[in-house]
Amino acid sequence: MSKNLVNFIQDLYNSKDNIPLHEPYFDSEEEKALESVIKSTFVSSVGPLVGEFESRISEYTGSKYTTAVMNGTCALQIAIELSDVQPGEEVITQSLTFVASTNAILHCSAIPVFIDVSKETMGMSPLSLKDFLDENCEIRDEGCWNKKSNRRIKACMPMHTFGFPCEIDKIKSICDDYGLRLIEDAAESIGSFFGDKHTGTFGDFGIISFNGNKVITTGAGGVILTENKDIALLAKHLTTTAKLPHKWNFDHDISGYNYRMPNLNASLGIPQMNKLKFLLKEKRKIAKNYIDWGKENGFHFKEEIKGTTCNYWLNTLIAKDKKERDMLLEITNKASIMTRPAWTPMHELPFNKSFQRDELKNTAWLADRVLNVPSSPRKNAR
Ligand SMILES: *Cc1c(COP(=O)(O)O)cnc(C)c1O
Repeated sequence: MSKNLVNFIQDLYNSKDNIPLHEPYFDSEEEKALESVIKSTFVSSVGPLVGEFESRISEYTGSKYTTAVMNGTCALQIAIELSDVQPGEEVITQSLTFVASTNAILHCSAIPVFIDVSKETMGMSPLSLKDFLDENCEIRDEGCWNKKSNRRIKACMPMHTFGFPCEIDKIKSICDDYGLRLIEDAAESIGSFFGDKHTGTFGDFGIISFNGNKVITTGAGGVILTENKDIALLAKHLTTTAKLPHKWNFDHDISGYNYRMPNLNASLGIPQMNKLKFLLKEKRKIAKNYIDWGKENGFHFKEEIKGTTCNYWLNTLIAKDKKERDMLLEITNKASIMTRPAWTPMHELPFNKSFQRDELKNTAWLADRVLNVPSSPRKNAR
């Protein structure tokens, strides 16, 4: 039975060679864009394409303001900083996520608190969030205080795992009740919607990553989404060395970051945005293939939850137990089909072990059973 998964994936991608987990989709449009940006000499962080890429993202996601930066990790860092998270304050996050989420919190000298995910969405569980806050926190001095650590909890950062939207409406309302800023890690979820609203547009901030393995890529890159004009201006200022606009003077009012997305990277982003709709359609076809085949062959692949649209960034098989998952990992990788488990949960990493967490039952359950399977849009599918 398990041997069939190998044959199925080889047939799906019409290949017996190496099948990657997710590779970028480029054609002559990207080649032309790169050639033209090189000819223009504007390859660094000054150039017209960065602004154009930002407009395209705003237009597609419905976010009022977009700031393009070097990668998703620094987008998160800036979002946390601009949420007024002070050193020593706490940020609630999930343990089932990529290390970038936790790193960004630590880069701000803030402290992560790990909350469980839901088995269904694989993203932060609103039930676990509410339980944790009800049990551990009190509202005083106009803030939410953790009674155990006696630290202020300033923000909550859920993630839309593998592109499957989490229950962001419920999470938002809990954050409102407790006075927490909401930062959506939508790194993996361009093209994913909750209702008809794009992921990353529910909170005070959302971020999207354009790393090479995401649905679309700028090589490396990320954006910060916000509805607040003043905050958007601050985000741009802080990520462009806080330089005060002047034709020749180099004057800076605060110590800013050199995080602006280079024009070279933005030049890739525009043709990638041109093909986003087609890529999402193709990824949906691949997902349907996995789901239908799974139903016939006794494998459970994750399907988008009613009322949401999933970009199917990484298709996800939920094995019966760890033993089955590990066997599937073994046989697929042996056949040069790249599959992988979910990330090692954050609370198990050596530098995160001391941080507070809830029971993380679903996190452990999923960490034993998740198998991500090749999900690239197929070559020449257009
Ligand atoms: C990809 C990713 C990021 C950002 O990663 P970068 O490589 O820095 O762009 C952040 N969070 C999650 C969950 C991710 O998958």
